[in-house]
Formats: sequence, structure tokens, C-alpha cells
Amino acid sequence: MAESRRSFYLQQLKSRLEFYQEIGLEGLFLKPHLSQEPPQTYSEEDVSQPETKAVKESPTNSYAAESPQSLSLFEEDYSQMSTDESLEKIRQDIGDCQRCKLCSTRTHIVFGSGNPEARLVFVGEAPGADEDAQGLPFVGRAGQLLTKIIESINLKREDVYICNVIKCRPPNNRFPEKDEISTCSPFLLRQLEVIKPKIVCCLGAAAAQTILKTKSSVGWIRGRFQDYRGAKLIVTYHPAYLLRNPEAKKDVWEDMKRIKALLESN
Ligand code: SF4
Repeated sequence: MAESRRSFYLQQLKSRLEFYQEIGLEGLFLKPHLSQEPPQTYSEEDVSQPETKAVKESPTNSYAAESPQSLSLFEEDYSQMSTDESLEKIRQDIGDCQRCKLCSTRTHIVFGSGNPEARLVFVGEAPGADEDAQGLPFVGRAGQLLTKIIESINLKREDVYICNVIKCRPPNNRFPEKDEISTCSPFLLRQLEVIKPKIVCCLGAAAAQTILKTKSSVGWIRGRFQDYRGAKLIVTYHPAYLLRNPEAKKDVWEDMKRIKALLESN
């Protein structure tokens, strides 16, 4: 049992490192967390009848922020939001943003796109090269895969809203740094407050860890709905990860079936 658990985590680690390589991130320091149980799996019944399951303390990715609170908008910040909040106002507030060092290397701020009243919002990590060039989210290879994922549940890109945790491309597609996420993520949280989707789908660890204030890995927390400020939130793999690890597509498909079932439930 111990050996199979070790094998499980080594496979998770291998996949994660391949993902970092895919996005151009180098020079990592990993802390092993091999003493905890692997994630539970869910039956077809869970797929057909989505339900909220409690988040358990879990293995983490070492690149998570040291303090979960440092990544997130605190509750009192929500209370300070203006009553005339809108996506347009948030974009105006961002302006020609110089709040973090990513402003010096970006071409375009990538705010987000799609239906401002979407029932389903996808949240990724950060713009890549194509997104930076065009000012639109998920337009590169990973974006084309996301389009197929969206269409697999009988929706179009125009039906959903797509955005990222941070709005400017990190140099060489490196993982966003803690200060960049803490500076930029309030804009994402304001976007979610305005759109008020029925479902938030986090694509990858950055979105999940930022919104849920957790250090848990995607492999641990994916596959079930959680409550998020009146919405249901589900975590799944980032399309860039799927390009490198096509075997994970079956997990994403299961997550998409959960989303589709919940959207059709009322
Ligand atoms: S990443 Fe966000 S906080 Fe940083 S410069 Fe861009 S818009 Fe501003």
C-alpha cells in the first residue's frame, strides 16, 4: 500500500514537472508530501448527480503561496465594492496598470472575454504569448483545446466567460509570482462578483489555489463541486497540461459531464 501511494505521488510529481516544462518554468524546489492519503474517486452516480463535497486537507503543490490569505481578496474587501460595480468599471480601474512588475514586459492586458452574464466561467492562470499579442484569453493552442472542451458540453465560447488570475503575461510564461497574484487577483474576484455565474471552473492550480485559498493540488481537489459565494466551483486540469498529458483528458471529460449535468439540472 505504501509503495502504491508513493508511486501515485511520484506520478503526480512527474506530471507536474512536465507541465512546468511545458509552460517554460524552471528552477523549482519541491517539498515532498508523501504521508497523506491519495484522493478519493467518485462513481458515475456522482457524475449524474453533482453535489458539494467538503474540501479535505490535502497534499499540496510546493509553488503555492506561503500564506493562503496573501493570495486572496479578504471578506472586508467584498464589502467595500461599489454598488455600481460592472465589468466595464473593473476594466477602467485596471487602466494602464502599473501595479506589478509584469507591466514592463506585457504587450496587452488580457482582461477576459465572453458573456458578461455567463452561467459558467472558466478561470485560467495567466496570458501566454498569443494572448499577450492579441489581448484575448485562451487563443493559443491551449485555447483551441479549451474551445473544444466547451463545445463538448454543447456550449460555445460566446456562452461562457473566460479570464485568468492575472492579466499580464509573465516573461517566458513562467509561473506568476506570489506578489503578482496577490496584486492582480482582486480584479478576478471582482469579475466573479459581477458576473455571478452558476458555476466557476478553475483551470489548473493557480486559479484553484487563489480562489479557494488553498494549497491543494489539482489532482487532489478536482472532481467534485465546492461552494463559492453562491456558485458551485469545480477544479480541473489546465488545457496546457492536457497538451502535455493527454491521458488526463478523461478526467477533464468527467468534470465537464459534472458541469453539464449541473447546468441542465435547473
Ligand atoms: S498583472 Fe495585473 S496587477 Fe500586474 S500589471 Fe498586469 S493588470 Fe496590473
